[in-house]
Amino acid sequence: MIFDEFTIKSLIRPVADFPKPGVVFRDITPLFQSPRALRMMIDSFIQRYVESDFTHIGALDARGFLLGPILAYELNKPLILFRKKGKLPSDLLEETYQTEYGDAVIEVQADSLCEGDSILLVDDLIATGGTLLAAVNLVKRMGASVYETAAIVDLPELGGSHRLQDIGIPTFTLTAFS
Ligand code: AMP
Repeated sequence: MIFDEFTIKSLIRPVADFPKPGVVFRDITPLFQSPRALRMMIDSFIQRYVESDFTHIGALDARGFLLGPILAYELNKPLILFRKKGKLPSDLLEETYQTEYGDAVIEVQADSLCEGDSILLVDDLIATGGTLLAAVNLVKRMGASVYETAAIVDLPELGGSHRLQDIGIPTFTLTAFS
């Protein structure tokens, strides 16, 4: 399906002052209520990555979980979950980071990746980049590397995509709001 950024943008609803005053929350739920938009988004990611040689896909809690499993299924790659603290069993690595909303902790199972593995990290949105940078650190601590970070939305004014690019991590997003 031909990618149409206007359709994608029109199905991302701005919600003022959520979850706290001053934040414009970019609500992606309408995108997932449109089978056409969902197909367009997934097709775009698949077209970009179908020939890529990364070994794993990493999905970030929580809305990265909406994309990660579909991409892992379509691209036939193992899926790794990066979860908020307290959700995963077994031996874990954790990173503390800051978001637009406050401090947070992200965890991954310590045996998820090995040296030589290369992972595509997927989330719904890049704001300050804190979440993805924490996931990048977890990947590096396991001796693996990050192929790219992918999201539906970039908020470039919050600096996250630049911060990732500054440390050599490419970013790919379908649309942006400034
Ligand atoms: P950050 O770590 O600051 O890049 O924030 C990214 C994470 O927080 C993503 O998992 C998003 O789901 C969520 N997030 C941050 N800011 C927003 C926003 N303005 N609208 C919707 N989600 C957001």
